[in-house]
This record gives sequence, structure tokens and C-alpha cells, in this order.
Amino acid sequence: MPETRHHKVLVLGGGVGGYVAALRAAQLGLDTVLIEGSRLGGTCLLRGCIPSKALTHAADRYAEAADGSALGITAAPKLDLKKTIAWKDGIVDRLNSGVASLLARAKVPVVEGWAIFSDAKTCTVETKAGPITLTAEHVILAAGSEAVPLPMLPFGGTIISSTEALNITELPKHLAVVGAGYIGLELGIALRKLGAEVTVIEMADRILPRYDAALTRPVRRWLDRNRVTLHLGAKITGLDAEARLGVETAKGEKLALTADKILVTVGRRPRTEGLGLEAMGLDMAGPFVKVDDQCRTAMRNVWAIGDLVGEPMLAHKASAQGAMVAEIIAGHRRRFDPASVAAICFTDPEIVVAGLSPDEAKAAGEDVVIGQFPLSASGRALTLEAGEDGGFVRIVARKGDQRVLGIQAVGRGVAELAGEFAHALAMGAVLEDIAGTIHVHPTLGESLGEAALLALGRGLHI
Ligand code: FAD
Repeated sequence: MPETRHHKVLVLGGGVGGYVAALRAAQLGLDTVLIEGSRLGGTCLLRGCIPSKALTHAADRYAEAADGSALGITAAPKLDLKKTIAWKDGIVDRLNSGVASLLARAKVPVVEGWAIFSDAKTCTVETKAGPITLTAEHVILAAGSEAVPLPMLPFGGTIISSTEALNITELPKHLAVVGAGYIGLELGIALRKLGAEVTVIEMADRILPRYDAALTRPVRRWLDRNRVTLHLGAKITGLDAEARLGVETAKGEKLALTADKILVTVGRRPRTEGLGLEAMGLDMAGPFVKVDDQCRTAMRNVWAIGDLVGEPMLAHKASAQGAMVAEIIAGHRRRFDPASVAAICFTDPEIVVAGLSPDEAKAAGEDVVIGQFPLSASGRALTLEAGEDGGFVRIVARKGDQRVLGIQAVGRGVAELAGEFAHALAMGAVLEDIAGTIHVHPTLGESLGEAALLALGRGLHI
């Protein structure tokens, strides 16, 4: 007979959604257990946000050293990619053990192994010490997501997902990236900066199809300037007998590309297979577990959060939902409001979006005012070499009451503005709140104040 344990709260998955849910539940005095089949930290810490940003940073350092000539700085950097990856792994290990310590301090036991549910509140985990059956009053599902392969390009060998790309120790001479979403472009740009020849193939007729065209233009300019070959509106036809990548271009031309690595980044899907979801009596929303605005599933006291429940598949959304569910279980009144979930593309330049774009606001029936401040007019942007690539900060507000509906930016270094954008939306700011905030000089944040002034019809620096 397997050992049986009962807890008030069982969290499945030790990613940023699950471990935050467990920490908050423990903080609120709930007897909580967490199950993780791989390593604590999940996609974000181990093979997503953190390692990709480490690689992006290393690539920036290399590219800056290689081309500082306009600033009177020249150097000839040398790349030891094994060392770069070891440095990145050091960060990942540190965060992984950090999560373990946080859980230990919160007295949340971690059961290591893959869980399979036999009903909504019971699962069995095959641990190294043998099987354990766990039951709970509340179950929080945070199983995350995985990369989607293309049927004609299954992962393996030269065909890699973002996970393998983040562990590459030999720079590919030629990298083909299939899918020009944020993951493909972040990695493609980083490897281009490190010296790989990069070709991007995308089915849509433009890069980053989920972002509005004005925001993606500066990124497109970077790709063109840095000789990244783009095939837009193109189809993958598979590998030929010589392992060349077949591409049918928008014009119907058939190409055979020789690439030593083919990075497939066509999307991610929720991890719903293999955990016994079918035994839990949940409803689905397409491939995702269906939840309401409190992350309740169709089964009483079974909750689901993070990538498992749909877009946006972002770390901070998963954590926010995790903390919220713990609080609801503890008796708090909470609802999830996605309006202030900002998203960032760590491309070159970076893109930040929060709330509604002008087109989305109009489609929602809003009559809007827009203020757009170019970074070429920001002194701080010029000192950061961030003023010349067409970047800007844009604010979208309702005409009637000047309530801010969305804020977006593109430009080098704008990622760090995301907090102020999200804050403005979360607090329900109006244009005067932002225009009246004394922004520190010289910072990129001043550009948001200027965008608000422009929307109010009294821009000062343009
Ligand atoms: P996950 O982090 O995927 O965690 C799920 C956990 O559950 C995993 O550890 C898994 O092992 C465990 N698990 C699953 N099934 C079982 C089972 N049956 N038994 C036991 N354990 C199980 N997001 C951002 O916000 N910013 C970024 O910059 C960013 N960059 C990214 C870059 C890349 C390359 C990738 C791939 C993703 C990136 N993301 C980014 C997305 C982010 O990583 C995810 O949104 C986030 O990790 C989702 O958290 P989660 O807790 O829902 O799932």
C-alpha cells in the first residue's frame, strides 16, 4: 500500500505559479504541500524568462564590445560560449535553490515526482522512496506548458526548442528560426549578436504578429540592419533528403536552407496530458483548463492557474493568479483582473505593452486620445544610444474621462518602464495623474510623463 497523506492545500507544479501559490498559502496559515516532477522553478526560472534574459544580456555585452566605435570605444571580444552557458546555469541553480529555501522556510513540504490524479482531490506520486498518495481539500493545478513541435519538424537532433537553444555550447554557423514570436526573436537576435547567421521564417506577413505594427517597426529595422534574413508569409515544407529546410516563400518560390540548427518557436501548449486530468471532471476551454475570474475550475475546490489556463502565458500572470487563489482559499475576496498584466519582448529594441493598444481600444468601442513621445526627443535615451531607432512611448486614454486604457513603448531599455505602466493601469490612473507625477531627470520614465502631456494637448519637449 502506498503511503497516504492529507493536506488542506495541494499544489501541483513548482513553477512561478505553483510555488508562489504554495508560499502565499503557507503564509496564510494553510497546511500546504507542493508536488514537482522536475526541478523547482519551472519553465520561467529553468528554461524560460531567466536563462533567456541571461543569454540576451551576454549577447548585448558582446555586441557592445564589438561595436562601440561611434562612442570612441573599440575592442575585439572573444566568445567562450561554454563559459557563458555555465554562467547562465549558475544563475538558474541559484534561483532553483532559492525557491527550495523559501519553501523550506515556509514549512511547505515538497514531494518530488510526477503526479497522476485518480479523482479530483487524489493523486499518486512516484517518488524515489516509492509511491505516495496525496489527498487534499483544495487542489491548485499549475502544470504549466511545453513547446509545440511542428509535425514535419519533430524536436531532436538539429531541430531544437527554446530549451535546447538556451543550452547551446557551440555557436551555430547558421540558425534558422521558425516562428517570429517573442521567444524566437529574442533568441534569434541574441545568437545573431554573438555571431551566428540567422534566418527567420514566419507564416504571418510580419514579425511579432501579436503586437501592433508601429511597435514592431523598430525591431524590423534592427533585423534588416543586422542582416537577419526574413521570410514572411512563408510556409515550412519539411526537411529534404539532405536535411535541408524546405521553405515556400510568400511568392511561391521553393527554397532549401542549410542550417546547422533549426529553432522551432511556433507556440506553447498547456501541459494537460499525463496528469490524469480526465479523471478530475474539469471543463476545458480549447486546449486550456477552463477557469472563471477566480481561477475556479468546473470541479469544486479545484483551481487552475498560469500557462495551464490560457493567455497571456506569462510568469507574472501565473504568480498573481497563484497568490490570488491562496487568498481566496483563506477566505479573502479576490478576483483576477488581467487589465494590468504587462508583457515585454526582450528584442532589440525592447517592446512593452500594457492594457489596450489604440486599435484594441477603438475595437472595444472607446473614443480615445493618444499621446506618443519619440525617444529621439529624450535626453536620457540619447545618452543610452536609444534615441535613433524609432522608439517611442505611447499612452492611450478615454476621451471622456481621460482614464488611461493602455500604455506601450518600444526602445532600448524600455523594459524597466513596465512597472510604471502596470501601476498606472492597476491604480486606474487618469492622464493628469501621470502628467502631474514629477518624473526624475534624466530617465526614460520622463517619456511617459511627456506622452501624457501630449495626450492632454500640452506637450513640452516636442
Ligand atoms: P511552469 O513554469 O511551466 O511550471 C509548471 C511546473 O509543473 C513545471 O516545473 C513542471 O515540471 C511541473 N509539473 C507539470 N506536470 C506535473 C506533474 N504531473 N507532476 C509534477 N509536476 C508537474 N514569461 C514572462 O513573463 N517573461 C519572460 O521574459 C518570459 N520568457 C520566456 C522565455 C522562454 C524561452 C519561455 C519558454 C517562456 C518564457 N516566459 C516568459 C513564459 C513563462 O516561463 C511562463 O509563463 C511561466 O513559467 C508559467 O508558469 P507556470 O507556473 O504556469 O508553469
